[in-house]
Amino acid sequence: MQERLQKIISQAGVASRRAAEKMIAEGRVKVDGKVVTELGCKVDPATADIRVDGKRVSAAERHVYFLLNKPKGYLSTAHDERGRRTVLDLLPEVTERVYPVGRLDNNTEGLLLITNDGTLMNGLLHPKYEVEKTYIARIMGEPDEVTLDRLRQGIRLEDGMTAPAKVRLLEQGGGQSRVEIAIHEGRNRQVRRMFAAIGCDVRALKRVRFAGLTLQGVKRGQYRELTPAELLALF
Ligand code: URA
Repeated sequence: MQERLQKIISQAGVASRRAAEKMIAEGRVKVDGKVVTELGCKVDPATADIRVDGKRVSAAERHVYFLLNKPKGYLSTAHDERGRRTVLDLLPEVTERVYPVGRLDNNTEGLLLITNDGTLMNGLLHPKYEVEKTYIARIMGEPDEVTLDRLRQGIRLEDGMTAPAKVRLLEQGGGQSRVEIAIHEGRNRQVRRMFAAIGCDVRALKRVRFAGLTLQGVKRGQYRELTPAELLALF
């Protein structure tokens, strides 16, 4: 069955529909070896060889799922126009066209899921599923429990109130604190902004848990495939 090229690309998990249209317009998409820049183009994903930046995108591609321990200094995008390092540089052996599920800031480290399964990706990112993400933050200052309660209740940021967060003080002393915080929203720089709202600058941030997955056994900069049990729990 023929479908619009941008729909096939976005359903393969490569990008949103809008971003797929941009990729087509930019001449990054080839169908059966020929560049297609026309947005209305319809093709049959079962038979056509569709490539974005030379990598195959087709419904027939096997789905793969990796858990990466992202170090600082890598962008959570698949493609950077300025040629900066991206998380995909850490998975050089992976031949499928994979994408990170959500984003971590360049200077945040920790758990990032990488897949080519667009359906799973969209599900995990959709606010209605309230997927929990847990971070350990090293912050400046020694906030007391009353102050941390403001995060637990939900705090006002410039883009509105946050949902209540789970917050646990791990360590405090010498003008700094280590705090575990679990949220289920995914706003830009949310954890850093939440701590800024109580007057604390985040010095280091690491995601240690995402949708029930943990970093156990995966060193910084390394990755592994999800186990069948982990996958089952995600779906
Ligand atoms: N919150 C942040 O501030 N940064 C991240 O990378 C993730 C959550």
